[in-house]
Amino acid sequence: MSPTYDVIVIGLGGMGSAAAHHLSARGARVLGLEKFGPVHNRGSSHGGSRITRQSYFEDSAYVPLLLRAYELYDDLERATGRDIATLCGGVMLGLPDSRTVAGSLSSAREWDLPHEMLDAKEIRRRFPTLAPKDDEVALYERRAGFLRPENTVAAHLQLATQQGADLHFDEPMSRWEPYRDGVRVHTAENTYTAGQLVFCPGAWAPQLLADLRVPLSIERQVMYWFQPKRGTDPVLPAHHPVYIWENRAGVHVYGFPAIDGPDGGAKVAFFHKGEVTTPETIDRTVHEDEIRAMADHLSGCVPDLPGTLLKGVTCMFSNTADEHFVIARHPAHPESVTVACGFSGHGFKFVPVVGEILADLALTGATRHPIGLFDPARLIDTVLPH
Ligand SMILES: Cc1cc2nc3c(=O)[nH]c(=O)nc-3n(C[C@H](O)[C@H](O)[C@H](O)COP(=O)(O)OP(=O)(O)OC[C@H]3O[C@@H](n4cnc5c(N)ncnc54)[C@H](O)[C@@H]3O)c2cc1C
Repeated sequence: MSPTYDVIVIGLGGMGSAAAHHLSARGARVLGLEKFGPVHNRGSSHGGSRITRQSYFEDSAYVPLLLRAYELYDDLERATGRDIATLCGGVMLGLPDSRTVAGSLSSAREWDLPHEMLDAKEIRRRFPTLAPKDDEVALYERRAGFLRPENTVAAHLQLATQQGADLHFDEPMSRWEPYRDGVRVHTAENTYTAGQLVFCPGAWAPQLLADLRVPLSIERQVMYWFQPKRGTDPVLPAHHPVYIWENRAGVHVYGFPAIDGPDGGAKVAFFHKGEVTTPETIDRTVHEDEIRAMADHLSGCVPDLPGTLLKGVTCMFSNTADEHFVIARHPAHPESVTVACGFSGHGFKFVPVVGEILADLALTGATRHPIGLFDPARLIDTVLPH
């Protein structure tokens, strides 16, 4: 008997919804299984906005993937008519030799990406909401901006459904095993068979992919929406870019303009300052002392922003030891299983290209995209710094 499906995708968050789209667009019979409802806020792909940019301080090896992701985000907007990407411009700020500034500049130069270097005076002139110290500089990228994660996931789910994928929500995978030439997947109610399995489990990877032997630390993150002291006008996208700001102590804060008009406030967050947690035990309450710490930090760099806090929402990062992704055929099951996890707080801008890569790997065993950096072999049994 042939399997019911060509491919089963586990997890329909950012990466899994994109994989379901790319697989079904190529004619594969796809089943997607998701633990929660469509476009939920319990994982890593919610909160209204994500920064996108091409000058990549993390490693210039990401740049070709970003160039492709930009094309695919355009396609996604065109195909669904949804509001997904706004390229309002962005600044990477800090001391000239900080990783954020120096790393962004070297990847921009290496890939010939359009960019400008701004000194502190020029930053203040162009973006009066930002208050850099005299020795701080910024790389300005006009093609940086923000993505809307919920609209992205909804768009991928919509296309996958239109292309014939079966997407089952509130139906978590409980276990799976190799079966004939493929896999068999169990949920509380059902058992399914397929030739290929694709794991996109986000913060649930430590439980579902223990046999990868890639340690991941799940990190609690808080997003804060402030109503600025002098009203929203100064922080609308026309004057207030997306920014990633590394101070001299190595603390990163990043933020967005007010993307939802006068009542929505402007979002900010610290990058990697959260405690280690699990999806089951994460503290989803945002506490007074953390709000105060954020407001204090902002008063030194975006002084108008910390007026009233409109809301605070938690989210999870899944960090690898080197903060690079894991995307590969599963080393223990190379014929039938593909994995995507460990996005370490910077995966969303890659969502559509990761979907394309996962479809390549599941359907052909290889991809034309450069994914050598994401090989899990580098991380087996590593010790996490967090
Ligand atoms: C606060 C915050 C800010 C961020 N900012 C940025 C940014 O500015 N730019 C950027 O590029 N990236 C950013 N990121 C990172 C980015 O959002 C993530 O890398 C990305 O969303 C991860 O997607 P995912 O598909 O791996 O996880 P998720 O979207 O969480 O998807 C995993 C899915 O698996 C499902 N699942 C789990 N267990 C099972 C099971 N047993 N059966 C079925 N389904 C299951 C879950 O319910 C979930 O839907 C940020 C993340 C956070 C939290």
